[in-house]
Amino acid sequence: MSEDDAILTVRNLKKYFPLRGGILGRTTEQVRAVDGISFRIRRGSTLGLVGESGCGKTTAARTILRLLEPTGGEIIFDGLPVHSLRREPLRALRRRMQMIFQDPYSSLNPRMTVERIVGEPLSIHELAWGKKRRDRVVSLLERVGLSAAYMRHYPHEFSGGQRQRVGIARALALRPDFIVCDEPVSSLDVSVRAQVINLLEDIQEQQGISYLFIAHDLSVVEHISDEVAVMYLGRIVEIAPRDRLYADPRHPYTQALLRAAPVADPQRRGEVRPPRGTPPSPVNPPSGCHFHPRCPFSAEECGNVAPQMVEVAPDHLVRCLRV
Ligand code: ADP
Ligand code: MG
Repeated sequence: MSEDDAILTVRNLKKYFPLRGGILGRTTEQVRAVDGISFRIRRGSTLGLVGESGCGKTTAARTILRLLEPTGGEIIFDGLPVHSLRREPLRALRRRMQMIFQDPYSSLNPRMTVERIVGEPLSIHELAWGKKRRDRVVSLLERVGLSAAYMRHYPHEFSGGQRQRVGIARALALRPDFIVCDEPVSSLDVSVRAQVINLLEDIQEQQGISYLFIAHDLSVVEHISDEVAVMYLGRIVEIAPRDRLYADPRHPYTQALLRAAPVADPQRRGEVRPPRGTPPSPVNPPSGCHFHPRCPFSAEECGNVAPQMVEVAPDHLVRCLRV
């Protein structure tokens, strides 16, 4: 992919949180939540980002939008260096980058009507008032499959799926080019997940929006992603075009996640196994390959040598000493 094809380029992005301890409250250790991730998202396409809870997905998303200050690395959005922009240009850029959250119930103000929730970004950016704003809210609600009659309702009056539609309408209000979808279906019933994913796909097709789509389960991102990145303890361990990743996963962690994903085919249900053990802490990550204590193929060198990304096929990169 050339630089021009990419709406977003992330290079060696890091976000460390200081841990304060001791009687003087000095910074003693750091949580390396995001520890040098790199990827690109092509215009109008979707990158799925997958990994177990705590591996740094939300921190990566919030740092890319500069809701958190990066510890290091670069974020280039449509040619602009997000990592070093000052307040005013950053504010202008924020209109073009939006976020949808896992739990629409806590991300939507419970005391605001749907009309105010969806219309608020238009007011904040001083883009529409009065009837113009109301008309725009109606068309946004219709766009996400909700009738204008819901304008006067409050978030608690909706089902989970409807609330997520309100969250999507709000994210679309400023006509963004890029949306981070942070586990947008994880808290929804399985029966409504596909509806919400299909809606996001339709919107992408019509408006050319690019997505970073986060999930903790590979099965959720399979349908919507053009490329998929697998994250483990602050690092990307494998990234590949979608079909390649599911057909030929190379990293033992990706393979374990694929085995753990819910399987529709009842013949294969018996094979479902989660990855062994739980992820270690990002405060003291294991030496060498971060995954080696849980890896069924771990050899002595895996505890000593930190693997680099290796390109095993075009655009298919793997961080494992065995490939
Ligand atoms: P995920 O979204 O993949 O579940 P997060 O990005 O939320 O992971 O968290 C990654 C790691 O960073 C976790 O160990 C979490 O406890 C830690 N973390 C997240 N936010 C903070 C913070 N504000 N201060 C300290 N540690 C944090
Ligand atoms: Mg998260």
